[in-house]
Amino acid sequence: MNVAVISDIHANLPALEAVLSAIDDVGVDEIWCLGDAVGYGADPERCLELISERCDVCLSGNHDLAALGEIEIASFSTSAATAALWTRETLGDEGLDLLAGLGETAVEREGIGLFHASPRDPVWEYVIDTDQAEDCLNAQEQRVALIGHSHIALYFTRMDEISRLSSELASDGTDLTMNRGQWLANPGSVGQPRDGDPRAAWMDLETESMRAGFHREDYPIDLAAEAIREAGLPDHLADRLFQGH
Ligand code: ZN
Repeated sequence: MNVAVISDIHANLPALEAVLSAIDDVGVDEIWCLGDAVGYGADPERCLELISERCDVCLSGNHDLAALGEIEIASFSTSAATAALWTRETLGDEGLDLLAGLGETAVEREGIGLFHASPRDPVWEYVIDTDQAEDCLNAQEQRVALIGHSHIALYFTRMDEISRLSSELASDGTDLTMNRGQWLANPGSVGQPRDGDPRAAWMDLETESMRAGFHREDYPIDLAAEAIREAGLPDHLADRLFQGH
């Protein structure tokens, strides 16, 4: 099965449209979304509609749950908390229903573990260093797990529990074959990349061979930034889109 994996859209409609268009050019059987449809960006309703229409798996992320009022936003940065409250107030009943209708924060599909944040803490843990990744690989039931949340396209792998773990950032064009050993991979963020490449990120995966490819798409960042400013959301949420961190 050919799958496109997306994550962390964050209500960035121009980025989501660019990625869906690239996915349609390739042609896939399913689209899996690892969560955070909303938060930070200015088009939550339309993004939720598109994700609900197009994705076969839609996980909930911490920003989705925060906008619903289902988790505390005390640990959010000020701008993230502002955006969560703005999203809650801005979404109509239909949008709130779509948000509430997103799935769990963790599921298994085709034998692959899908988590918003991490296998041992699907809501909050940022997996960005090798010690954490090692603990996650020890905790995860599946040989291969896909995660979002950090907004950094990367992967961790080791042959088995006694082998040394290796980690790599996954820039545009990175290809992997995850057919042996243990893996934890993050496709990167569609709507708010934080790995220095401001282009929208996604990953394709062929589930029999377990070959995966990391992709980045140009999109009109100025439109997404303008929408954030017009919505009255914090300016730096617009500025950071151009920097990709
Ligand atoms: Zn996120």
